[in-house]
Amino acid sequence: MSDVSQNNEHTRRPSRVTTDQQVESPDWEDSLQTPVQFVRGVGPERAALLAKLDIRVAIDLLYNAPRDVLDLSNVRTPAQLEAGLQQSVCGSVVDTESRMTSNGKTMSAVLIRCGRAFVRGVWFNQPWILKRFFPDNVVLFSGKPKMRSGRWEFSNPHTQWLENDDAATEDGLPVAVIPRYGLTDGLKMYEIRRATKAAVEDYVDLIPELLSPEALKAWKLPGIREAIRKLHLPKSMDEYREGHRRLVFQDLVEFQLAIELRRRVWWSGVPAPKMPCTAKIDSRIRRLFPFNLTPGQNQAIADIVTDLNAGRPMHRLLQADVGSGKTAIAMYAILVAIANGHQAALMTPTELLATQHWQTIDKALSHSRVKRRMLTGNLTPAQRQTVLDEIRTGEVQLIIGTQSLIQKGVKFSNLGLVVIDEQHKFGVGQRAQFSTGTQSPHVLVMTATPIPRSLCMTQFGDLDLTTMSDMPPGRQEVKTFRVYNVNTRKRAWKFVRDRLQEGRQVYVVCPRVGETEEEDAQLELSFDEEFPELSEKPQPVVEDLIGSAEELFEDLQKNELKGFNVGMVHGRMNAQAKADAMEAFRTGETQALVSTTVIEVGVDVSNASVMVIQQAERFGLSQLHQLRGRIGRGKHQGFCFLFSDASATDVVKRLSAMEKYTDGFKIAEVDFDLRGPGDILGSRQHGALPLRFGHLIKDRKLVEETRDAAVELVKSGQFDGPLLAPLKSAVLDRFAELMDLPRSG
Ligand code: ADP
Ligand code: MG
Repeated sequence: MSDVSQNNEHTRRPSRVTTDQQVESPDWEDSLQTPVQFVRGVGPERAALLAKLDIRVAIDLLYNAPRDVLDLSNVRTPAQLEAGLQQSVCGSVVDTESRMTSNGKTMSAVLIRCGRAFVRGVWFNQPWILKRFFPDNVVLFSGKPKMRSGRWEFSNPHTQWLENDDAATEDGLPVAVIPRYGLTDGLKMYEIRRATKAAVEDYVDLIPELLSPEALKAWKLPGIREAIRKLHLPKSMDEYREGHRRLVFQDLVEFQLAIELRRRVWWSGVPAPKMPCTAKIDSRIRRLFPFNLTPGQNQAIADIVTDLNAGRPMHRLLQADVGSGKTAIAMYAILVAIANGHQAALMTPTELLATQHWQTIDKALSHSRVKRRMLTGNLTPAQRQTVLDEIRTGEVQLIIGTQSLIQKGVKFSNLGLVVIDEQHKFGVGQRAQFSTGTQSPHVLVMTATPIPRSLCMTQFGDLDLTTMSDMPPGRQEVKTFRVYNVNTRKRAWKFVRDRLQEGRQVYVVCPRVGETEEEDAQLELSFDEEFPELSEKPQPVVEDLIGSAEELFEDLQKNELKGFNVGMVHGRMNAQAKADAMEAFRTGETQALVSTTVIEVGVDVSNASVMVIQQAERFGLSQLHQLRGRIGRGKHQGFCFLFSDASATDVVKRLSAMEKYTDGFKIAEVDFDLRGPGDILGSRQHGALPLRFGHLIKDRKLVEETRDAAVELVKSGQFDGPLLAPLKSAVLDRFAELMDLPRSG
């Protein structure tokens, strides 16, 4: 089995990891590492260009996925065209013209030659389109043709510009499916295509197969060599898809296996304290809540209670929509830990949220003896030192704070549980920081941003998942309206004033603090940095809606909200000012609160039933959902107005989705779909996700399948067996360092 050796390392890592069992390099391995200049027909000049694409050795060419494929299987000759059906023709540009029609439109026409016949494409009132056509360009027109004056004509055809050699065939046979690769200046499509073809012909049989025949059969995958052949030299779209699927599968399954190994490390690593929840503890905790817990809350608590008593560290993600009552669950877990003589920490992304939790929990615990403290940035050095001392000696049992809880100098005496609220604002790295020491604390991560399943399975795949889908009883759905012109805006403000008269309160959310676009430091979302592709891009603004909180604060007091008490809170205010502004709003002293997204997470004022969002197009869908989650929390019907003058289709779609859906999971899916497939190359820059072929959005089904496959392979022991040893070493070669996996066991 020399071709099933353990090393499929084909990336550009310079030094290869040598394992104990490394066999002597067989010949094939060297051949796959042949510098690309020696691949048939390449030579030093093209090799230099290929190097710019990170293609340095033979195997790099094989694993260089096409950027896309051109499907010419449905292209017809002019003689084969039928009127009114969706079809394509391919030809080269011979002439262009532009003229006025009798009814005053500009008509632009492009004449292409397809074999011996000519076909016309025409456009109305888009004179600039002709600038894109040059003589001899090879183009593909798609649309529904009409016969006009004895010639086929496509009106407004979808046009694709082909490389001049795209449609060229080498052996005279029509090629139906043509892969297209990323290029660099000076490198021609046909050159990289030819080099790839040569590499496939000369080297593909040397690629080791890492999956067992059973696995290939079970997942209906072609062998790796067949897959690479089909990827680069497909005879049909189906062949291409089959080859591509295998490579995506390989990529994803390796990643998923690494995540499974990561989980195994959690499970078999340092022990965690056993913290049983007795009936007595349970009833003592429940008495603290002014309500009965929902079935969903009880289920989540059951999961957590089991984890806390398992003797190994809990690593659980609690996913539940905004307003579903996660705080109660956190409190329950915290009190179990404390009842068992351990310290518990509750960590939040912002001070505002820490304060909010503090108020809730402090109130609930007012008759208990639990020693509790807040550790935030606005303590004086002396106060801070006192708190730190109390944490170190174990005098404090519950500590609530921001990231400052994991800073140096914070030493716990007996930390048993860490609850992290709103996980997506914490980097993944921060989650890892608690897992050191001789005994690990239990970690409960809570998120209100529903995470699309495929993302969850990768990014949070190392955590156990509890999804809570019910809401406390009596919750009303917030009614949401898109407001896109001056008149409706006036009516919306009138509506707001009427609600304020009735005693309700309103949030007015702005995309920024002041004149400049400068961001609020606390809003830096690590999530966005990790998933640039998924992050929400601000839209350009061309409108007169005020986007600055400071400016709107002044404006509202003079105009729409004259005579009402207006407050303001934003991230550039200091912690005390922020807390004061929130307190004034909470007590009803201010009726309207102008804010930035600092109120996005966790803030809970149940009398606030209306929200106005200025320049709503500047917010992403999940952010809007988070914001909207601040209202409709009490007994009053909630109303949300999305002010936006932007008319771009994707803005309208996003804001309409907000009008239509209130379920956060549904919105997350819409969001995921709306952002579209993105481009294949982009997916490589996933940052935290080191994928080569797989794409989180496009390949979401495979993400799920490979997740199941990986779990099964590890659970059944196959992954540790001899048959999959090559796969295991490939996974370790690729991920051991990145994910801190042990190389043995
Ligand atoms: P989340 O953090 O999940 O967004 P919270 O924990 O802030 O939600 O809870 C939202 C509101 O619902 C709070 O006012 C809380 O008191 C209330 N609540 C939570 N659980 C229940 C329940 N079981 N019954 C009634 N109200 C509840
Ligand atoms: Mg919350």
